[in-house]
Amino acid sequence: MTQNPELSAQPRASLFIGGQHVEGQGAELAVRYAYTGATIASLREATPPQVAEACAVARQAQPGWAALAPVERGRILARAAALILERNEDLARLETLDTGKPIQETLVADWPSGAAALEYFAGLAATLTGQMIPLGLDWAYTRREPLGVCAGIGAWNYPSQIACWKAAPALVMGNTMVFKPSEETPLGALKLAEIFLEAGMPPGVFNVVQGRGEVGAALVTDPNVAKVSLTGSVPTGRRVYAAAAQGMRHVTMELGGKSPLVVFDDANLEDAVGAAILANFYSSGQICSNGTRVFLQEGIKEDFLARMAERLASVRMGDPLNPLTNHGPIINQTQADKIRAAIRAGQAAGARLVCGGEGEGAFVPPTVFADATDDMAIATDEIFGPVMTVLSFREENEAIRRANNTGFGLAAGVFTQDLTRAHRVTARLEAGTCWINTYNLTPVEMPFGGVKLSGLGRENSAAAIEHYSQLKSVYVGMGGVDAPY
Ligand code: NDP
Repeated sequence: MTQNPELSAQPRASLFIGGQHVEGQGAELAVRYAYTGATIASLREATPPQVAEACAVARQAQPGWAALAPVERGRILARAAALILERNEDLARLETLDTGKPIQETLVADWPSGAAALEYFAGLAATLTGQMIPLGLDWAYTRREPLGVCAGIGAWNYPSQIACWKAAPALVMGNTMVFKPSEETPLGALKLAEIFLEAGMPPGVFNVVQGRGEVGAALVTDPNVAKVSLTGSVPTGRRVYAAAAQGMRHVTMELGGKSPLVVFDDANLEDAVGAAILANFYSSGQICSNGTRVFLQEGIKEDFLARMAERLASVRMGDPLNPLTNHGPIINQTQADKIRAAIRAGQAAGARLVCGGEGEGAFVPPTVFADATDDMAIATDEIFGPVMTVLSFREENEAIRRANNTGFGLAAGVFTQDLTRAHRVTARLEAGTCWINTYNLTPVEMPFGGVKLSGLGRENSAAAIEHYSQLKSVYVGMGGVDAPY
């Protein structure tokens, strides 16, 4: 455990089941501060019986929760959002300790985005209705019903935001949830569970179990679980989707990407450089939707790279709790090593290293490769670190073809001042979310999710409700029954 008591983040217990703090009975789970490597909390995983118990408790709590008037469920979510915003500073600090991300990011991007999801779905609660279908004398209606117990499984880059994004639409629809954060970042979800309880949520509606992949796997196949929502990598997504299929469970898959950011030569260069910075280096590049393949139209490449190098000179790496730090450490040593291996592979393949490089210790600086080709690993594989690959193109059709030449389809960006071109190109890009003249903005009002290998289902917006509910059709006969015999 850390010698510095200020950095201790020990929760009351590792799990949260049925409104109670419960200690895990499984293997130890040390939580390390990515900046120093110090252990800031020591948790224990849930055992298989504890996972089963959490799911059974959630199953039991579900009918009562669903029987509340929607506006009452919404009110509880809204209260939770208000508590989060009141405590944002403390929560941001905890998020920084859990993830290593700079406090200047966690103050504005993590819990605030989670609170926005709770507020949005709280407002939507009372509007979720079925349809009345006239059939002559007879008629039918639809009821939008909850699925039951939803399992949420999160990645480590935005742990608290992910927990809120999944819980908000699920709970507002009258489902209950068992959430498993990434083993790397187990702390935020426990806070969310406490805040929900304080906001008046009945025990058992939102539960947290901890553990590595096997705990997630046990959750996915638990007989009480009706739906699985995963944020993670494509390989994990494949495993979870296959396991969920055994029980014909619903799934939402928010997976990885290698998204293109296409910059035409009429673009506002300063904005395009700024967007490419946000699209590659925010959260030290650990963002699924990052535009890591930057396609520059011939003619602007060198100006773009020169301006990029100038702006990257003001990067401040260091203590994530220092408000001036704008580039934090990588989540752990294994991930940092993977990123370094990708950088070495880029150099070995002959790409030109314009800025950055391997860095040292927990830090990998913003790294830019130019003169890459589409088939190099730095241009095909998700690195999930601060590595931008610049490619150049001559004309629009070529850019679209090459942008789409990937198995992923999470996001894409286009920079141009030509209004018609912007919409023409986005219409042809194979991506679940596209940005025109900006990048990586994911307001709760807008659906977010991927196509192709990047996933299915949508988070945020009213569209998310469809993925946490099912329709029941009710036919109402108003006359006699006409049978042939
Ligand atoms: P992983 O796929 O390694 O893990 C995601 C979660 O799944 C973790 O909680 C993990 O547990 C759990 N898990 C692992 N194996 C299984 C299994 N067999 N059954 C059930 N659960 C399992 O992803 P990372 O945490 O490394 O996150 C990075 C990835 O997430 C990147 O590919 C990134 O693009 C993607 N991502 C996608 C987002 C989106 O919205 N599309 C947003 C953020 C990230 P544990 O880690 O505890 O072992």
